[in-house]
Amino acid sequence: MQAAYVPSIISIAETLLSELEAIEEQPPQITSDLLIKLHHLFDKNLERALQIIDKGDVKCYVAEKSGRTVYQVKGKTAAEPYTVFPLDYCSCHAFLYDVVGHGGSEQVLCKHQLAARIASALRRCPTIVVPDTALVQLLLTA
Ligand SMILES: [Zn+2]
Repeated sequence: MQAAYVPSIISIAETLLSELEAIEEQPPQITSDLLIKLHHLFDKNLERALQIIDKGDVKCYVAEKSGRTVYQVKGKTAAEPYTVFPLDYCSCHAFLYDVVGHGGSEQVLCKHQLAARIASALRRCPTIVVPDTALVQLLLTA
């Protein structure tokens, strides 16, 4: 007997976020069906991510020559914004504890990564083109 395929929570998250990123209508709109699915998966982090986006606290920096992209997302209390690579990294404590370390509440992404993914998909973050050296400086201070 073959074991039933059970998708991992990470693959479910990627499927839903890919669905979000595939929205082509202008301006982009999240369907209520997709929003409900995202809420089931991300719960309070979705609400927090949407609040971050509504406050305009997500910025996308693109290096002019290399095209490398880094997001800066303001935290609720931190003085400096967090440095975010939406798929792989955030400089916040919750990323280390809950995402990497599977601490108190296992999460696929922290709210800052989620905010960057959603803001990018919905074109709700300004894109700032900077010299490549400026992007390095940004990363060195993360
Ligand atoms: Zn974070």
